[in-house]
Amino acid sequence: MTMTGIADDLTADSTAPDLRTALPGPNASAIIARDEAVTSPSLTRVYPLAVRRGRGCVIEDVDGNRFLDFNAGIAVVAAGHAHPDVNAAIHAQVDDVLHYCSSDFYLPAYADVSERLARLAPISGETRTFLSNSGTEAVEAALKLARHHTGRPNAIAFLGGFHGRSLGSLSLTASKSRQRSGFGALTPGSYHAPYWNPHGETGLTGADYIDEVLFKKLTDPDDVAAIFVEPIQGEGGYIVPPAGWLAALRDLCDRHGILLVVDEVQSGIGRTGTMWACEHDGVEPDILCVGKGLASGLPLAGIVARADVMDWEPGGHGSTFGGNPVACAAASATLELVEQGLADNAAKVGAHLLSALTELATQLPFLEQVRGRGLMIGIDAPDHDAAEALQEACFRRGLLTLTCGERSVRLAPPLVVTIEQADTAVSIIGDAAASL
Ligand code: PLP
Repeated sequence: MTMTGIADDLTADSTAPDLRTALPGPNASAIIARDEAVTSPSLTRVYPLAVRRGRGCVIEDVDGNRFLDFNAGIAVVAAGHAHPDVNAAIHAQVDDVLHYCSSDFYLPAYADVSERLARLAPISGETRTFLSNSGTEAVEAALKLARHHTGRPNAIAFLGGFHGRSLGSLSLTASKSRQRSGFGALTPGSYHAPYWNPHGETGLTGADYIDEVLFKKLTDPDDVAAIFVEPIQGEGGYIVPPAGWLAALRDLCDRHGILLVVDEVQSGIGRTGTMWACEHDGVEPDILCVGKGLASGLPLAGIVARADVMDWEPGGHGSTFGGNPVACAAASATLELVEQGLADNAAKVGAHLLSALTELATQLPFLEQVRGRGLMIGIDAPDHDAAEALQEACFRRGLLTLTCGERSVRLAPPLVVTIEQADTAVSIIGDAAASL
């Protein structure tokens, strides 16, 4: 038994869902009351889940209720909760050294993960890596590097895109106006184009809109340092652009000497069935942003760039904690697992999930559209409130999901998810949708 009196018997194979109290249970209710008295009101707690521990795709709350985790908190825990290889790497590094600022000194764990990223990045030729703590810092680094390398001031991103919440990355984010409200003025020289769905007035999308509208009316292409794009929009609704869309952007960048920054913070590290989502389109970025799943839950993110692009001088950029050795050790273990089979599992279970949900949607009109790639799957409900109701109904049945976009529920389980767990999730979603 543990301090909380809950039997320490949770494994990745434990049955889930297994709900033992009303939700929230007494311990969760007490924690929520304490939390809400002292934490930032900006935190959007979506349902009353108070997490105690996790194994594989199973989360146990503080009352001993077990949930099937299709969030991976959020698209982060690539190798699953408490993967033995990742935990062993963390423990070994903890016993050696916790921290020794990687910006100022050499750490083997930093070199290890950078070598792996150099080998795995979807960029031919020599690359360089800079590691940070969070996705938003990776995007900030990409923005600074793009300006520094090109000497140009402006950047273009896409409507519906999410790149983070610090002021530079927030200037590129165009996911929900609430995220920008009251925080202006943002970084000057940030422009937005429609993602793949054509813009109402012009009928144009992506590269065509940038060429025809932005370059003619708002910014000379010679003033644009970079175009920032998610190969699949994440927070914007798990939107997958059609084949060729990303390649057209690459071509536009090449024509104007603009850097293509592919933000794979959410879509990378095997989530879509390949190491990087842009590999599905055969498109190479100049700068790749990584984060979330990289260290399976420890804070690590960064950029991998063409070596000739990463030409800033010593002192030009750095971070006290970025590339922390414990996080780097977790990242090397995670990348090994993703390479050795988890990306393949994401492709296999993702295809199964997509086809089962597509079939389910033919029986339940509430599920208006199902789309995605690998284990990055979005389900459209009729409207925003309906999506939230579906998310809540799944939670009440022991399945953890999260809304995204205007009216979607996203499924982003750990990459170790099994076919059986996918089937359980489909049956809960069916039951939840039928109840609404
Ligand atoms: N970029 C993308 C594509 C993301 O999905 C996110 C977070 O959801 C970020 C950047 C920001 O990452 P973080 O929350 O770690 O700052």
